[in-house]
Amino acid sequence: MSYRPVIDESACAAHGDCVEVAPTVFKMDDIAVVIGTAPDDVILAAAESCPSVAISVIDDATGQQVYP
Ligand code: SF4
Repeated sequence: MSYRPVIDESACAAHGDCVEVAPTVFKMDDIAVVIGTAPDDVILAAAESCPSVAISVIDDATGQQVYP
């Protein structure tokens, strides 16, 4: 469980899809904010669900960006 989501605040259009996929990771304020964590596959699925591609995923174990 080493994936970490990063929200591009200028790209987030507040659709809320990420919150539906991963409610333990994201919550909606004016835009989505990261509030917690989840298994890697859930974080990745939430990032993939974002219509604005506003969520990048970093693997903290390697420092590499794994999505997009
Ligand atoms: S799905 Fe993307 S655009 Fe929508 S709230 Fe989440 S980060 Fe923002």
